[in-house]
Amino acid sequence: MSETEMSVEKHVFEADVARLLHLMVHSVYSDKNVFLRELISNAADACEKLRYEAIVSPELLAGDMSPGIKLTLDEENNRLVVEDNGIGMSRDELVEALGTIARSGTRAFMERIEAAQGKEGAQLIGQFGVGFYSAFMVADKVDVVSRRAGSDHAWLWSSDGKGSYTVAAADLADAPARGTRITLHLMDDAKTYTSRWTVERIVKDQSGHVPVPISIVEKPG
Ligand code: ADP
Ligand code: MG
Repeated sequence: MSETEMSVEKHVFEADVARLLHLMVHSVYSDKNVFLRELISNAADACEKLRYEAIVSPELLAGDMSPGIKLTLDEENNRLVVEDNGIGMSRDELVEALGTIARSGTRAFMERIEAAQGKEGAQLIGQFGVGFYSAFMVADKVDVVSRRAGSDHAWLWSSDGKGSYTVAAADLADAPARGTRITLHLMDDAKTYTSRWTVERIVKDQSGHVPVPISIVEKPG
């Protein structure tokens, strides 16, 4: 066993997260596209947080001043990657942000969604902006590699959305220089999210107002 494998920590999701994930995955929403809006909105928030922190700590911008969000379409491997060069997350921030429900609106959301029919559920997701976990509507595995601005460490958070996730130190060579890279291992019926036409259309429809440039690239096969 390598050193990296030995340091993989397994965590169980907070009960409310597990419940929310179950609801998201097992309800038939008519509009799964919202996951992309949620991930892009988080990426833009992360760029905004960096801009704010950099007012007092300009060194955080080292080497890369322009905020950006990059979507990589990997048709061959059926993956979609959402990457930003924003603030990034430390190990503790990853565990807190992606393993618990810190947001107060979420409980109310869950109560309403449990009572709602499928179609209305999508509207509720929109209304409450339920966020990151919506990735599991289209992906059966999600990997998040993050490196906080100014940190010499990167972390890999990984989950199949079925109750637990792992956190491990990530190789700096495989991590963004700063920020967060989210790799969605798409479900077989979600292949359309590797199509440029589909992704461009969704970005235009849902994320036109995002104040950070969004680029879409195809991974060479
Ligand atoms: P919200 O955006 O409403 O806080 P989300 O579920 O969308 O809820 O995201 C949860 C948290 O995870 C965010 O508040 C943020 O702390 C963290 N997060 C998610 N994506 C990113 C990202 N790309 N960069 C930095 N932090 C992120
Ligand atoms: Mg969000």
